[in-house]
Amino acid sequence: MLEIPLNIIEKINQLKTTLQSASYAYYVLDNPLMEDVIYDQLYRELQELENEYPSLITLDSPTQRVGDKLNSQLDSVKHNIPLYSLENAFNFNELKQWENRWQKQLEKITEFNYICELKIDGSAIALTYENGIFIRGLTRGDGITGEDITNNLRTIHSIPLKLNIDNPPPIIEIRGEAFLPLQEFNRINEEREKNGENLFANPRNATAGTLRQLDPNIVSQRKLQFFAYNSYLFSKNANITTQKESLNFLQEIGFLVNPNYQSFQNLEQIKQYLDYWEIERKNLPYMTDGVVVKINQFSLQTELGFTQKFPRWAIAVKYPAEEVTTTVEKITINVGRTGAVTPMAIMKPVQIAGTTVQRATLHNSDRVQELDIRVGDTVIIRKAGEIIPEVVEVIKDLRPSNTHPYQMPSNCPECGSTLLRPENEIVTRCVNSSCPAILRGSLIHWASREAMDIRGLGEKVVISLMEYKLVKSIADIYKLTSFQIADLDRMGDKSAQKLITSIEDSKKQSFSRVLYGLGIRYVGAVNAQILAENFSNIDNLIQAKQENLEAIYGIGIEIASSVVEWFKIPENIILIQELKSLNLNLETKNNTQKLGNLANKTFVITGTLPTLKRSEAKKLIENAGGKVNNTISTKIDYLVVGEDSGSKLEKAQKLQLKIITESELLTMIDNS
Ligand code: NAD
Repeated sequence: MLEIPLNIIEKINQLKTTLQSASYAYYVLDNPLMEDVIYDQLYRELQELENEYPSLITLDSPTQRVGDKLNSQLDSVKHNIPLYSLENAFNFNELKQWENRWQKQLEKITEFNYICELKIDGSAIALTYENGIFIRGLTRGDGITGEDITNNLRTIHSIPLKLNIDNPPPIIEIRGEAFLPLQEFNRINEEREKNGENLFANPRNATAGTLRQLDPNIVSQRKLQFFAYNSYLFSKNANITTQKESLNFLQEIGFLVNPNYQSFQNLEQIKQYLDYWEIERKNLPYMTDGVVVKINQFSLQTELGFTQKFPRWAIAVKYPAEEVTTTVEKITINVGRTGAVTPMAIMKPVQIAGTTVQRATLHNSDRVQELDIRVGDTVIIRKAGEIIPEVVEVIKDLRPSNTHPYQMPSNCPECGSTLLRPENEIVTRCVNSSCPAILRGSLIHWASREAMDIRGLGEKVVISLMEYKLVKSIADIYKLTSFQIADLDRMGDKSAQKLITSIEDSKKQSFSRVLYGLGIRYVGAVNAQILAENFSNIDNLIQAKQENLEAIYGIGIEIASSVVEWFKIPENIILIQELKSLNLNLETKNNTQKLGNLANKTFVITGTLPTLKRSEAKKLIENAGGKVNNTISTKIDYLVVGEDSGSKLEKAQKLQLKIITESELLTMIDNS
């Protein structure tokens, strides 16, 4: 017999307990302990472990049931037909696997197509009509037995009390989703806040909580709605053979049907629908948490039937999560170009918002302590618009038994010098200016797109150059020869020559980019621009006093003193002299023409830009004479896009507007 490792038994038990308490909080208390995406991932992890070790499956495992305990104060009623849940696909590949699975199950595949519906994030409801009259409404409950919420459902205007049908069948059952529109959800929460009551975590829990209220008066005050998506006719003369016909029928007899459903011949076509709604759903007045893909033909649905929990002919495709769980394999610290030390969690690689992630920031030592993160922990990481993912939570219930608290090192891992944490600061630093980590970070920053834009000089090449001791300062970049570069690992003559050309080209970059590239603390792209415009050349800036700097609009005390301090360091002055002799731009050219460079051009900014805040980008555009609008129209010249650009990007593409990145914007501003 297969020996089951003890840590697997421990993990399965921990997952079961964690999911059970989460389920109870979610279904019974309507007050979730964790985000749905996190629940789904832990559930998936348990499912995978149980598949591997089936002897560990117990009847009380959360994977063995639909829904959860019923509210004991409401009457329990058995469903006419069990109310199933839906299987989940978390990416397109899993959708393809589902197609393979169902097709293998059929002896012969007759002609079929799919129908896609939005997955409304509310509560599943089963309504029974006798001779066309609404007589009973149930929650899904555990799938077999639901709770009787008939009186509450009577308050929902989109549930007809009498069907619009001439000869109603003796019994008809309708299924669909009750939900709270977002506006109503916000209104209810605002009211609860005023009354000092607990807030609902999301519209889905607010819906479930409302439907199970014992007082229908409260329900009627909360404007619930209902979208119907299924009809079961308990009569022989129903002439409906597809889901599409069923949706039309539901509409005819008086139900609200979500209008965004669409039929498709194959999964490739469905991909476009999924991509479209992943963005557009953010503009809907209600929450959706995916798309339900169903086989349209009832004949095939009947042939495929159900598993214990799911129909085999439908699947819910969930959107890529911005939060995922993974385990910590190592905790290290990273020393940045300013010497700032950032603790990082190195994790088992996971997919998040479309990219594979293995490192997440822990920000600083206070945060490490607060999280009490340890090697072996299961953590939740988030990547919402940010470039670097962060650890947001440690799931302590899933902590393995033999872990140790993490101790921040007291010495720099790169140069060995003692790390310092100045009083009143949260950041720990390496203050050794010749620390290789600081040089490495400075070189990478100098070459970055937003600074000198030296293509081909990325992190790997910088590391090689430092290993071979070819660069000890920014100025050394300009002294490299193509022979030296060609000798580096994985470089050849061609790439070496290319790199030399881009290094040479970078000499044409504007003064403001040079200033930004120097990496003076607090001098980002916008401040560099302001300084370049106000001081015209580096010598004026070197001589500037704290008060001259502070007098400039947009330059505060912190920036001013950081600039003054930077120029006090002799090595920095030597660097400037070297850059001057290498013919880099250390003065603003055509200063007078600079403003007005973007005159008559209108921009819209969308998404998170890599370095600029929206307000900063707006300021830069306006300084250069351009205008910034909020909405996309044919009058817009450029859309500046960042990460998570949303529907504006789609609209701009439809209107064939010019779409540019932050870096292209900065180049446009520079190229006056
Ligand atoms: P589900 O929500 O993933 O999918 C099934 C449901 O989709 C159906 O019952 C129905 O209500 C709904 N649906 C919406 N539109 C539909 C349409 N057009 N056609 C068919 N069905 C449609 O599964 P579930 O079993 O209801 O609940 C599991 C979910 O509950 C998981 O996603 C999980 O994240 C969440 N959950 C969360 C926690 C937590 O702690 N956060 C705990 C337990 C469960």
